[in-house]
Amino acid sequence: MRHFAIIGSGPAGYYTAEAAQKAFGDEVRIDVFDRLPVPYGLIRTGVAPDHQSIKAVSRRFEKAALSDNVRFVGNVTIGEDVTIAELQELYDAVILATGAPRDRALGIPGEDLDNVFGSAAFVGWYNGHPEFAALAPDLSGNTAVVIGMGNVALDVARILAKAPAEFAGSDIVAHAREALAESRLQKIVILGRRGPHQIMMTPKELGELGELERAAPHVAAADLPAPEEDAILEPGLRKSVSHLRAFAATPEHIRAEKPVEIEFAFMSSPKALIGKDKVESIEIEKTELVRGRAEGTGETETIRADLVIACIGYRTSPIPGVPFDERAGRFANDEGRILPGLYCVGWARRGPSGTIGTNRPDGYATIEHIVEDIAAGVLGRATRRGGVGFDALAAERGLDVVSFNDWKKIEEAEEKAAREGAPREKFVDVEAMIRARG
Ligand SMILES: Cc1cc2nc3c(=O)[nH]c(=O)nc-3n(C[C@H](O)[C@H](O)[C@H](O)COP(=O)(O)OP(=O)(O)OC[C@H]3O[C@@H](n4cnc5c(N)ncnc54)[C@H](O)[C@@H]3O)c2cc1C
Repeated sequence: MRHFAIIGSGPAGYYTAEAAQKAFGDEVRIDVFDRLPVPYGLIRTGVAPDHQSIKAVSRRFEKAALSDNVRFVGNVTIGEDVTIAELQELYDAVILATGAPRDRALGIPGEDLDNVFGSAAFVGWYNGHPEFAALAPDLSGNTAVVIGMGNVALDVARILAKAPAEFAGSDIVAHAREALAESRLQKIVILGRRGPHQIMMTPKELGELGELERAAPHVAAADLPAPEEDAILEPGLRKSVSHLRAFAATPEHIRAEKPVEIEFAFMSSPKALIGKDKVESIEIEKTELVRGRAEGTGETETIRADLVIACIGYRTSPIPGVPFDERAGRFANDEGRILPGLYCVGWARRGPSGTIGTNRPDGYATIEHIVEDIAAGVLGRATRRGGVGFDALAAERGLDVVSFNDWKKIEEAEEKAAREGAPREKFVDVEAMIRARG
């Protein structure tokens, strides 16, 4: 019997568990750890609350989670409650699927001003991640600036722009729903260093901006390349750019029917955030493209910014004893191998890119490496104690472990508390989650 510890119950963690089950059948026992008492990582705390069909992928992971040879071990933080070295004593393979939960810094003056957030914090706030539930962004100003031209920036801009009725059927948490209903924002600027042909926004998500009840997107026609230049783009990007063209073609009097404007500011690099205590404006430098890279032109301007959310990428949190690649912001690894018996997968391996599905081949490839390493004798003989050994350690330390059964009780309580038409009302603090399991 082989024993695997997977650290992190997001997509990468569960796809890896699924792959291990396929490869080892009844010859494996898998413990899936999470620092939260609830599973599924960013499916719960990242994916937008108004995109419920995407969140439904977690049902697939339930199949693995409910099998006899897979356990969920929630409310245990690896690196704090238990060390990696302790897990390596107990399990044949330890697989880090801890994601990339820290915001990358902008690295410009004024970043520490009030009402400046990274997207991990801001998205965590509206999605009820316990770490960010108390964020309390001030939405009483006129203008929000969202930095970044990817799908996370689109999620953030859309959530800021939506009218309360547009959250029907979503699982946006109560504190965010209430704060957004009181929002006085009239302008949301999506700002990026490069141009319309360099956006990382997918067509469906970009198209949604054109269908909002009280907000209209605006692209300056002069910012768009000549239409014939779209021909060289790959089809998805071409479609996204066609949305930008449609936004640019919307007459002003039609846009003016909606009280909130979503403005695209291309070729703009943030240089400084300005304000006394709270952010008030942002200084930007106009850029030009030199071999695909944005380079400053020296021309600067200052635009109003009462709220700033930087959606510019994420970093993995280091864990004591695990080699870390500081530059890349993830564990140092060679195709998922960190040290003998220690692996990483998903965002913790490759950084924050790709969709939920991208983590599937990643999980399967990691298990293939483990199969090879077992064959090569790297993992030694199958003599480790696995979950039984962990349970003894947890009892000795007084850890309050949350099982999958406990999670199902928490889930049931969240579903019961849902407002009409919504799938659930999430608990936003760990204590409440623990209480809900009974
Ligand atoms: C805002 C946002 C929106 C997104 N929207 C979409 C979308 O609409 N569609 C789509 O396909 N993809 C989307 N993605 C991408 C998708 O969420 C990721 O591809 C995927 O979640 C990465 O999976 P992961 O398992 O590597 O990391 P995560 O999902 O982050 O899971 C990591 C898990 O590890 C746990 N963990 C971390 N550290 C420890 C520790 N020390 N001990 C124990 N547990 C720990 C965490 O609590 C978490 O549960 C979105 C991402 C973001 C940020």
